[in-house]
Amino acid sequence: MKLTMQLKLVPTDHQRAALLETMRAFNAAASYAAQVGCADHVFSQQAIHVRCYRELRDRFGLSSQMAVRAIGKAVETFRRDKTVCPVFRPDGAMVYDERLLGWKGPAHVSLLTLQGREIVAMVYGEYQAGFLPRLKGQVDLVYKYSTFFLYATIDIPEDAPIEPTRFLGVDLGIVNIATDSDGNAYTGERIERVRVRAATARQTYQSTHTKSAKRRLKTMAGRQARFQRWANHGLAKRLVAYAKDTKAALVLEDLTHIRSRITVRKSQRSKQHNWSFRQLREFLVYKAQPAGVPLLFVDPRNTSRMCHCCGSVDKQNRRSQANFSCLRCGHTANADINAARNLATRGGVTRPDLIASPGGQLACGW
Ligand SMILES: [Zn+2]
Repeated sequence: MKLTMQLKLVPTDHQRAALLETMRAFNAAASYAAQVGCADHVFSQQAIHVRCYRELRDRFGLSSQMAVRAIGKAVETFRRDKTVCPVFRPDGAMVYDERLLGWKGPAHVSLLTLQGREIVAMVYGEYQAGFLPRLKGQVDLVYKYSTFFLYATIDIPEDAPIEPTRFLGVDLGIVNIATDSDGNAYTGERIERVRVRAATARQTYQSTHTKSAKRRLKTMAGRQARFQRWANHGLAKRLVAYAKDTKAALVLEDLTHIRSRITVRKSQRSKQHNWSFRQLREFLVYKAQPAGVPLLFVDPRNTSRMCHCCGSVDKQNRRSQANFSCLRCGHTANADINAARNLATRGGVTRPDLIASPGGQLACGW
């Protein structure tokens, strides 16, 4: 499985200037190399190299490897189209391969610039940290929103896919962050506690319009986001491990529903949750695939109102946030578990091919 990682660079002012200068020289050199190629109707690395390598070094100040890479950038566009002579943006992406870059521990990277090697600080999410040891080969240095990023493609080995024997529905909720169709609740208690505490503090600060209050708010938002990330990361890990152990394919609600929640409830609180759901979903995708656990998304309409035993749909079925009680057949269950079971059932309807011989999952009584 290929994954693109984004690492944000935090250069000093001096490093920033050096990186920009290098990027501009690199792109100007690449445009020049393209011109040389176009003029002589040669489009290969070697043919362009013999014609302008020396000039790229002398005129643009590039190192030997940078010159090679600048020609490479032109050659790459020629591979797609030889009829147009490309002119690259001054701050277009620049390739850094192993000769131009070195990883210096978890928080720094050494980048060759026209000013020599610079050890630049970088930041990334907790989730990405796990992939850091896999970084090798070349990356792209990209400049956008006045910020430098390194984009690295990494290859994550995948486990052999499991042969699922059933579907595990996962309902995302507010009281419990997630509930699965086996009845496991992945509680949001701690997450909720942190959230409430943060919301109260936020209100206090919002009512005072001082500069320091604004600063506090910003710090808090960052802390909250980091905590949420950590919580979702752990949750996704547990869910995927459970599905793998019990040979289940995971079934979640598709994104449309998550989006519709936003329009239905506009409170800040549900916005927060929607954002969090999307993040959890993203983590699940990234973790399920390498673990060999199938993951599918189904239309979740009515899953909270439908009785998973008899299929009757009625708004009245859901008596409260917590309780489901079917008006037709009398089946009662925890509302989240009922919804998760409907998702599991829909998984079976959507992808019956995933399971060789479905058990009694579609029947009631579990
Ligand atoms: Zn029923």
